[in-house]
Amino acid sequence: MAFPLSAYIDMLEVLRSQGYALGPVKRYWTGYARPFLFLRHDVDRLTHRAVAMARAEKDAGFLSTFYFRCRQGCVFPDQAIRAISDLGHEVGYHYEVMTRCHGDIQKARSLFSRELASLRELAEVVTVAAHGSPLSSVSNLFFSDGMDRAALGLFGEPQVDFDFSDVFYVTDTGGLFGSPHNRRDWSNGKNLRNPTPPVALPAILHPGKEPVVLLTTHPERWPEANAAVWAHSVVDWGVNALKTWRAKK
Ligand SMILES: [Zn+2]
Repeated sequence: MAFPLSAYIDMLEVLRSQGYALGPVKRYWTGYARPFLFLRHDVDRLTHRAVAMARAEKDAGFLSTFYFRCRQGCVFPDQAIRAISDLGHEVGYHYEVMTRCHGDIQKARSLFSRELASLRELAEVVTVAAHGSPLSSVSNLFFSDGMDRAALGLFGEPQVDFDFSDVFYVTDTGGLFGSPHNRRDWSNGKNLRNPTPPVALPAILHPGKEPVVLLTTHPERWPEANAAVWAHSVVDWGVNALKTWRAKK
């Protein structure tokens, strides 16, 4: 399922009016005051939608974090990254080195360092996030847990370092907040587990009840045009059907 970008911005404005301050993931380490909502974006595909989301957020007075993947050969989408960094947003590294290296941890660590260095040629990078790779048998999740992140100049990774007994986790993985089609993208603590459209999320995220929240969204799911909303919903239906079929095998 996909929703229009305007629904995302409207949702953030309601959350702000409820008392939340909203900001990028790195604020977890550099300081924040409760109630606070961390805005994380995993840029899996369609980088132009990430740029559109970054502009819409900036226009509405929000800053967030965009995690970028690269193609083989450490090639990152440089134009989108520079545009988003120039707007004042945080840029992070969305890695998938374990799936790329077929589970070979030594190769994966070496590739992680090379890709991180390439991304840092385009923007400052102090946080990372694993790509879920839902259709792969190898998982990237918690890969950075065994690394000396400080030696790499990193504050950390939200899924590994956030205290989810305190932080409430919400993601649009699977097509909807709290989707039953989300296979791997869960925190080890508090999670939204009821399917919830954007218009209904502010009623659940009340500062008195959940004073710290990590909200993950995929910009490709929040296009500007209505035709794209329908097209993406059809793609989601296909991916979810494939996940269900594989789970039954
Ligand atoms: Zn991803």
